Amino acid sequence: MANSGKIGVSTKDLFPIIKKFLYSDHDIFLREIVSNAVDATQKLKVLASTGEFKGETGSLKVTVKADKEAGTLTVSDNGIGMTEEEVEKYINQIAFSGAEEFLEQHKDDAATIIGHFGLGFYSSFMVSDSVDIITKSYKEGAQAVKWSCKGETEYTIEPAERSERGTDIVMHISEDEKEFLEDTKIKALLDKYCKFLPVEIVYGKKQEWK
Ligand code: ADP
Repeated sequence: MANSGKIGVSTKDLFPIIKKFLYSDHDIFLREIVSNAVDATQKLKVLASTGEFKGETGSLKVTVKADKEAGTLTVSDNGIGMTEEEVEKYINQIAFSGAEEFLEQHKDDAATIIGHFGLGFYSSFMVSDSVDIITKSYKEGAQAVKWSCKGETEYTIEPAERSERGTDIVMHISEDEKEFLEDTKIKALLDKYCKFLPVEIVYGKKQEWK
């Protein structure tokens, strides 16, 4: 059974704001999505060290995949994942009060805005028509869920299949942002933003940015 609901935004509509004010620097979405994925792996490491997670962490990593045919760019991790409740809490409820005013003042500085409002994940909509999250929590017996949103305030969430814990962020790249499916572009972004991270970032056959 698929559930649907409305993303909790306190201003009129988040997405036009993201598109309107943040378009000067579309590149940063990849850094935001990859750093969430990295965070998820580091959180699992912490839970393992405190004994809250008793399973095998295995080799923690983040994978970036472009599928030109499907028009998707996917960032996957084998970190903590999210339960349905956590998706509701962390993805659907965006703390966005006072955002409009702040955005007016800082519209030339996308990075500040994104950091300030914790809009990291939503920056994916700068380059995507729709985004899916397929995620399975590390918690025992957790059911994987798929969250989908077409860049409006409506989303759907439903049970999904994912064999292992972790998260896939599937970005359905917009027609006019297709460059983000090109090897050279992705490599350049990873090289620019995703160096010196605590886990391996795998792209293409087996490239590593450390
Ligand atoms: P921030 O990272 O600043 O908290 P985001 O909008 O980027 O804001 O993400 C919101 C929350 O969603 C994160 O704090 C985290 O709890 C959750 N989240 C996002 N991406 C992932 C992921 N790959 N794995 C697990 N949780 C995630």
